[in-house]
Amino acid sequence: MRVVIDPGHAGRNIDPGAVNGATGLQEADVALSVSRLVEKYLLAVGYEVKLTRTEWEQAETDNLSYRTNLANDWGADIFISIHCNSAANQCAEGFEVWTSPGNTLGDKLATCIYGQIAAEFPDRIGRTDYADGDPDKESHFYVLIHTDAPACMVEMAFISNDEEAALLADAAWQDRYARVIARGVTDYAVTLEG
Ligand SMILES: [Zn+2]
Repeated sequence: MRVVIDPGHAGRNIDPGAVNGATGLQEADVALSVSRLVEKYLLAVGYEVKLTRTEWEQAETDNLSYRTNLANDWGADIFISIHCNSAANQCAEGFEVWTSPGNTLGDKLATCIYGQIAAEFPDRIGRTDYADGDPDKESHFYVLIHTDAPACMVEMAFISNDEEAALLADAAWQDRYARVIARGVTDYAVTLEG
């Protein structure tokens, strides 16, 4: 199983992603930290893993086609983009899993990951769209529609919400989050065997 983990944004001075106003915590840093942990857990179960961004700041990853080409050229079986959410309303909270529109294997992958996050963090709010019968939301995000592999995007929590930003900054919480994303991937792999 070849898994590409896509830490959102090019990082720091190029594109830090969303930033918490009080602490300066940057989405791109959190995304890379969690991505490295997901990689660790998936390597441990024998999967092959590549990160689209491996450095805190990496200019070529600012071009999203660099990321999707990396996955497509490698023949990835799964593509997971990792981000933190942000909103002008600092009360906005919760997690989201996104896929491309339509009923695809990406929906299956997203449902497995969503289920693991919801089970591990019952105190966090799952922001869902059940219009198509499953909890993931759908959008034409570039990396979701330009990857050949089933793809999803995890918006882990709102970095603009001070309570959730504190969780996102916490190493133990990052580790739990990475573990459930990895478990979602292995759950998905099991559904393929069925
Ligand atoms: Zn982002």
